[in-house]
Amino acid sequence: MHNKIHHSLMQWYKIHGRHDLPWRITNNPYKIYLSEIMLQQTQVKTVLERFYFPFLEKFPTLLDVAKSDLDDVLKMWEGLGYYTRAKNLHTTAQKCQGDLPKNASELLELPGIGRSTAHAISAFAYKEALPILDANVKRILHRYFAIEARDEKKLWKAAYELFDTKYPFEYNQAMMDIGSMVCLAKKPLCDVCPFEKGCEGKSAPQNFPEPKIKKIKPVRKPTIVVYTHNGKIALSQRKERFLHGLWGFVQYETFEENEGVLLGHITQHYSHFTLDADVYKCESEYVNEECEWFAPSEINHLSLSGADHKVLKLIV
Ligand code: SF4
Repeated sequence: MHNKIHHSLMQWYKIHGRHDLPWRITNNPYKIYLSEIMLQQTQVKTVLERFYFPFLEKFPTLLDVAKSDLDDVLKMWEGLGYYTRAKNLHTTAQKCQGDLPKNASELLELPGIGRSTAHAISAFAYKEALPILDANVKRILHRYFAIEARDEKKLWKAAYELFDTKYPFEYNQAMMDIGSMVCLAKKPLCDVCPFEKGCEGKSAPQNFPEPKIKKIKPVRKPTIVVYTHNGKIALSQRKERFLHGLWGFVQYETFEENEGVLLGHITQHYSHFTLDADVYKCESEYVNEECEWFAPSEINHLSLSGADHKVLKLIV
């Protein structure tokens, strides 16, 4: 049914595909898995230039991840954001003792591996003939089949319908490349797209999927307090899901200003809120019991969020 489309897609991929990405020239499941997890919320360029190779240098195998402390894994993830990914990677490494399962259904059982990621790992590492459905592929399918609703079930059905069972590996790679190079979110390049002839949504691509209603981001305004005592600084390890495992300075929703000295102000934009905080310094040994004391040189070895790095710059 889609023979012609598959042919155009393969032709396009041969000429324009990104054949040299390091996770495409290997069938090492760990290296493919790592790239899939890093690429979930981050662009190829950032992953490639700053994170993928240093992480592999520090942890050459998944067993090395399994044997390491979560702190060390988080340190290599610092700056990449969405730290739950690193925590899940560490748990997964320990759970499978460095040896990933060899099919999508078992991969799906592991923390942090959703259906599309399981399909991607299995398709690229073990050549299982399964379609993937990452954000880029979703956008193509929404437009090609003119699907307005953000409906996972419909999208999976569409993913299987368009899938090329003859060349599954190349098809999946080509779809990822079309999504990031041609069917762009804001201005799709329909004139050079191999799907152009059959694409039902190309006259109004911005309607597929239907635009999200923009929510105003809430602003959190805590006070951050840097407690110091005997030349050491107090930090605690975050427990909330979002920055889980990272070290950070004490934060209060309310704080008596006369208890400390104002150091400055920081602003940090997160995907779901903005942090807007005054930073105080306070000389006191009495901090909450979850805190530990570190010399300034020791703090460099801890993994901190972007906001806490900004606080650190105010004190050193
Ligand atoms: S023709 Fe345009 S809208 Fe349709 S898939 Fe290609 S780039 Fe996207």
